Amino acid sequence: MNNIFGLTIKELQAELAPFQLPAYRARQIAEWMYRKGARSFEDMTNLPKKLRSDLASSFVIGRPREKDRLDSADGRTTKFLLEFADGTAVETVLMRQPYGNSICVSTQAGCNMGCAFCASTLHGMARNLSTGEILSQAIVIEDMLRAEQQGKVDTVVIMGSGEPLMNYEHVLAFIRLLHEPYVLGMGYRNITLSTSGIVPNMYRLAEEGLPISLSVSLHAPNDVLRSRLMPINRKYPMKDVVQAACHYAEVTKRRVTYEYILIDQLNDGEAQARELVALLRGQLASVNLIPINPVVERQLMRPSAGRIRWFEQYLQEHHINVTVRREMGTDIQAACGQLRNKHIKD
Ligand code: SAH
Repeated sequence: MNNIFGLTIKELQAELAPFQLPAYRARQIAEWMYRKGARSFEDMTNLPKKLRSDLASSFVIGRPREKDRLDSADGRTTKFLLEFADGTAVETVLMRQPYGNSICVSTQAGCNMGCAFCASTLHGMARNLSTGEILSQAIVIEDMLRAEQQGKVDTVVIMGSGEPLMNYEHVLAFIRLLHEPYVLGMGYRNITLSTSGIVPNMYRLAEEGLPISLSVSLHAPNDVLRSRLMPINRKYPMKDVVQAACHYAEVTKRRVTYEYILIDQLNDGEAQARELVALLRGQLASVNLIPINPVVERQLMRPSAGRIRWFEQYLQEHHINVTVRREMGTDIQAACGQLRNKHIKD
């Protein structure tokens, strides 16, 4: 049976063509799936009963099951492990921020980028997620927030497991759907995509005409160190990544954020700070420093608080916009891939 969750109204109309329905039916069904929490056609009470059962015998509304859930002690971060029909599970995180509810969605089950510091990649990549599977992460949380009268999903970061620009079509279709008034009606400016630097697709993204925010996982200020931490740098070297990010900023007039995980004794010294300043000087960009979630097996440890502060100040003094990521949810294994890995090991 065909799964219709993840289709646009237009695509839905095409699927429904054999039923010869009035055009507005597709819109009603979409609104039920995406805005009103319908899990089955039976829930769609403004459709004729006969139609509901006809639809139910031809289509399914593919939504994931909540396989696990962890709430942080302060109640602000919730991590979900969501499982799709084929048993594939992904992580989605809800962060209740002072400025609203932010969610972090996954675009692949696992990841094959092989970054040295990241838990998502430890078991490789199982598969790309479909548009509907990416969207369902947002809708499951939106439905929960609505039921609990805790507001709505205000911002989306595409920064969970996987490399979004390696699943380009599905991710783009997801972003466009989020923006549709019959889905979340989300402003493009409230959506951030984070990439490890898939250069050709960064250019492609710039041409889409969507003013979403771009984050680039930089993590090192030169090719030698970056290739050690991020094998993808051997294919798309740092300078090309930075050039593609500059192009994105120029075309979209949006400031690009460079993510820089701070790792003790590895990329947190004065030499690296100096190189980073030279690399980014004069760009429409900012740096987000992320004290690493330690990967003890690889001896990647977190610098001291003083060291982090020093690095931040060095960038400030050299006129680079810089922030340090506030930590949320470390007590619930909210760092990338950790909850999923726990289940894979079990
Ligand atoms: N593949 C994309 C998106 C997923 S990873 C990308 O590389 O950008 C996105 C982010 O996960 C990284 O930039 C980093 O902010 C975070 N991350 C991964 N492992 C981490 C770790 N051990 N400690 C802190 N942040 C980590």
